[in-house]
Amino acid sequence: MRRERVRSAIWHNERLYMIEDIPAYVCDTCVEQFYDPQATDLLRVLTENGFSSAKAVREVLVPVFSLAGLVPVERPVVYEQPEIY
Ligand SMILES: [Zn+2]
Repeated sequence: MRRERVRSAIWHNERLYMIEDIPAYVCDTCVEQFYDPQATDLLRVLTENGFSSAKAVREVLVPVFSLAGLVPVERPVVYEQPEIY
């Protein structure tokens, strides 16, 4: 496990919010991230306040892609184990 600063994105009321510089522990073998407990609290406060309690440091333009019409809807749903990178 190593200490790192990571970023995350949270959907809230149909808007996407990005949070940077989150102190986290990252596993060297499976790259899973565990947020510092204090950071988890801060993220909860941000979300509970609808992101109105803090000032955004910057804004980004996000390209949006769609898979609409590219996957046949009559295909049966297959549950697979998610791939681990
Ligand atoms: Zn791991």
